[in-house]
Amino acid sequence: MNYNEYFKKLYKKSQIEFYEDLEKKLQNNDKTFIITANPETFKYAQSDKEMSTMLNDKNTISVPDGIGVVKAAQILGIDIKERIAGIDIANKLLELGNKSKKSIYFFGSKQEVIDDLLKVVHEKYPDLKVAGYQNGYVKDRDKVMNEMIKKEPDIVLIALGIPEQEKLIYKYLDKFKKGIFVGVGGSFDVMSGHKKRAPKIFIKLNLEWLYRIAKEPSRLKRFYNNNIKFIFEIKKERKKSKN
Ligand code: UDP
Repeated sequence: MNYNEYFKKLYKKSQIEFYEDLEKKLQNNDKTFIITANPETFKYAQSDKEMSTMLNDKNTISVPDGIGVVKAAQILGIDIKERIAGIDIANKLLELGNKSKKSIYFFGSKQEVIDDLLKVVHEKYPDLKVAGYQNGYVKDRDKVMNEMIKKEPDIVLIALGIPEQEKLIYKYLDKFKKGIFVGVGGSFDVMSGHKKRAPKIFIKLNLEWLYRIAKEPSRLKRFYNNNIKFIFEIKKERKKSKN
């Protein structure tokens, strides 16, 4: 599978338009799986059939999370408006859920992170009903998903990292009647106040990745493998398609 296929299906409109779509889906109980795609997701899909299937599934929406994906799209001549970050989607869902008194389930990250996240939700989003929560270090994740199904949450945020969070959602999606599902990576750590997001200027200049590496140098290898190599592969793909 070449990368082009994944880019064709990527959400191409603006962030604001995406949130309007999201609000409609939430109101209509329209079951939706949002894949926040970054270069790591696409690279992983090259060697993992399941990830590739879910990215190409017409029932999933993949959004360009990560400037690497936006840049790669430009190289391939595909018009993508802007980056739509997973953490922004997560925060927006809390806001929309609060506004329309919907319910939410949080699964993932450490227990102390979940505890502080619940405090934030209680204070800032008092009308959002917490249908349930579970830290991401339980042994039996399937049991958690089966419990979750019974609660019929309107919003499900899963923070277990790529690709576990996406695989878990995809495995159980058919069993849910409704719900907006998103794998949100390290977002709970930030939303709970345990980790700081990059200052606004970094985000504006599309340098959030640099801030994250500076804060956690162990991310450098992951960044190199997934982003730098990815852009080289995209350039190669463009060259091939030109020949
Ligand atoms: N995590 C978890 N269980 C695990 C491994 C990871 O709940 O077995 C959580 C971890 O606590 C963190 C999130 O998954 O909150 C992954 O965060 P990371 O920053 O690696 O994700 P990224 O945003 O970089 O994809």
